[in-house]
Amino acid sequence: MKIGFTTSFPVEIIFAAGHTPVDINNLFITAKPNLSVREAESYGMPRNICSWIKGIYRTVINHNINTIIGVVQGDCSNTHSLMSLLEDDDIEVISFSFPYDHNREKLKTEINQLKEKFGVTYEQIYEVKKELDDIRRLLVKLDKLTYSDKKVSGKENHYWLVNSSDFFGNPIGFKKDLQEFIYQAEYRKVRQQKIQLGYIGVPPIFSDFYDFFDELDANIIFNEVQRQFSMPHLKNDILDQYLSFTYPYSVFKRIEDISEQISKRNIDGIISYSQAFCHRQIDNILLKKYLPYPYLAIEGDTPDIMEERTKLRLESFLDVIRYTDCF
Ligand code: SF4
Repeated sequence: MKIGFTTSFPVEIIFAAGHTPVDINNLFITAKPNLSVREAESYGMPRNICSWIKGIYRTVINHNINTIIGVVQGDCSNTHSLMSLLEDDDIEVISFSFPYDHNREKLKTEINQLKEKFGVTYEQIYEVKKELDDIRRLLVKLDKLTYSDKKVSGKENHYWLVNSSDFFGNPIGFKKDLQEFIYQAEYRKVRQQKIQLGYIGVPPIFSDFYDFFDELDANIIFNEVQRQFSMPHLKNDILDQYLSFTYPYSVFKRIEDISEQISKRNIDGIISYSQAFCHRQIDNILLKKYLPYPYLAIEGDTPDIMEERTKLRLESFLDVIRYTDCF
């Protein structure tokens, strides 16, 4: 059975129970996203609500997903209302929470509840975790091929990392394709782009975002949240793994992780992406305050190509990096 979910959570439990997890965000953005948003607005969802929420709602309905795990703490403040709408459509709603205070016992309780709901043992969960960790190790290698060996583009890095939230529901197939991709990438020439950028925030809703940088002699060599989805810390204990996942906790955890990665990767500037009408826009205040690098905050709204204004701002930002001492 397909089990939808609204953001990364201990997906090991779903695989262990013999079900197929589906990251609804990835399904939404690759399957007529504009139509889903319009349908949700016709149903009554307000214009000033994030497009991902509207898209997730319609994608669940349009793809006949009967059960959904809603991460009601640590992801999105709109998820509560989204879950109520889905419940009204006779969709089974299961909640999962990441404790804001990073409390180990509270997280353990959440994992235990999910484990009991799906009737699996820790032995089964760890068996799956071992297989997924093999893939995560490959993803760490892919990431290194991006920032160190410079053989993988920001777009490719994004694609593999963002899809590691559900492994396309098929970890064996995902691993085989990833191995093949890495094998071929290792034989590529080193990419020569002069400007190295870090991308922070939720994945972009723009369809042409990564291609845009190729044309401007720049590459994104750090995709913050996508990398977090790939659980790169490779912890043996499942609680440690989901406590190291920075996205659902306070912004200070993200700042620690971003700072470490930016200095390790020798990044020239940061692009911080936020979604229109998202509470995470507020995080830009502290991110900008504590990340001492050239910093540009941009915003996306509907799933589309980037508007000219955003392109112009990005071009100007790259010019500033290119023609100052920062570079
Ligand atoms: S972008 Fe923000 S508002 Fe939209 S779904 Fe994600 S957390 Fe929620």
